[in-house]
Parts: sequence; C-alpha cells; structure tokens
Amino acid sequence: MPLDAAALPAPHPHVLVVEDDPQIAQLLARYLGGNGLRVSTAASGAQVRAFAERASVALVLLDLGLPDEDGLQLLRLLQGQWQVPVIVVSGRGEAVERVVGLELGADDYVAKPFDLRELLARIRSVLRRSGERVSAAPPAPAACLQFDGLSLDPGARRLIDRDGRDVDLTHGEFELLQTLLRRPQQVLSRDELMNALHGRDAGPFDRAIDVQIGRLRRKIEADPARPRLIQSIRGVGYRLASTVRTD
Ligand code: CA
Repeated sequence: MPLDAAALPAPHPHVLVVEDDPQIAQLLARYLGGNGLRVSTAASGAQVRAFAERASVALVLLDLGLPDEDGLQLLRLLQGQWQVPVIVVSGRGEAVERVVGLELGADDYVAKPFDLRELLARIRSVLRRSGERVSAAPPAPAACLQFDGLSLDPGARRLIDRDGRDVDLTHGEFELLQTLLRRPQQVLSRDELMNALHGRDAGPFDRAIDVQIGRLRRKIEADPARPRLIQSIRGVGYRLASTVRTD
C-alpha cells in the first residue's frame, strides 16, 4: 500500500540508505522510493563521510556491517556531527547488537532479514517524531527545567551539571530526560517511556529503556551506583524523585 504522504513532515523526506550489499540497497531504494521517500544510497563509510547532501537528510538507515568501517563508529558520527535520526539495520541480529545500537543513540533497530512493510512503518514513525520535534519547536525559548542542581534547556538542548559544566547527551538521552522532567515524581512505565521515545510499546525482552536509563544515570547521578534521582520502580518503570522548577 502506498504511503500516506499527508502523514509525513515533508513531501519527500530524504533517506540515506547505507548498505554495502548492492541487491539489498537496490531493493530498499526501489521500495522506499515507491512509497514517497527520496532515497540516496552509500555503500561504505567513506561514501557516507563524503556525502555532499547531508544537510537534506531526514533519516539514515545504517547497515552495521560495512566493508571499510565499523558501523557503530559511523553511528557516532551520524548522531554527533550530523545530528540525524538513525535506524540501525544489522545482519548480526543478536540482542547484544540491539542493546549496543540503542545505547549509542540509534532511534530504532531492525534486524535482517527485515520485512519491508515493517521497516517502512519504523521509518515513518521516526520521521513523524522528528518532524513533530521540529514543528513543535516554540518560537520563544522554552523555559529551563531546574532539578537537583542541574538545568536542562529544552530550546538549546543543553544540560548543565551541578558545577556549571555542559553534559554531553545523545539525542535519546535528552528525550528520555525531558520526558521524565515533564512529569516529575510520577511513575512512568517502560511502555510510556518507550512510546515517548520510540513510538511503540516495550517488548517483554526489550531492555532499550533500561540501558538508556543506565547511561543517563552515569551522567546525572551524584553516585550512579546508588541512584536516587531516577528511581527504579520494580516491575513498572521509573520515577524522577526530584522536584522540577521552571524559569
Ligand atoms: Ca553489510
């Protein structure tokens, strides 16, 4: 079924498919191109780094197994310098890869062999969420959220720690923290957090949220081994223990 173009943030979002298998790259280019997306392809890390149109890319579909470069290294570049949403595609298909991919800030993960319709649904979901973030950006700077001596500036997407230093957050960590700060002292289930971050419920073996909480704790807890700011509520989810002040 053709993609409902009205549901997309731009008429033809530009997707960069990073895939070294020419048959898979061609299949993806044809399928995604036939469903309202503008597709470019790159077959290596070098081609990604040399890609001239990077400013127009709305999403990268990244195969982890590339001939010339570790896909995870490339993921860091895309998340850091490019600041573009990434869906990791892996043929290795192991849970550990999934956790590592999400831990490094991928927006979603699809294992090969993938179902094309499922992949398209994931792409649409990530594009919709990043489009909402762009269009929902307020014209005036949003109020800073002060909590436990830290300060999150949603407009500038900056977190300042207790010593006045910038804390480097991945895109996913920022979204997770902001979600917790918007509803302080309430228990948020894994499903609620997963939906806020990835637009879907957490699966029974899905550790994505727990992994991201762990990373966030290492960055914002005074003692990450004994977290008291982000509390685990056994069998349910997480709660931000601090009060939040806006100014
Ligand atoms: Ca490959």
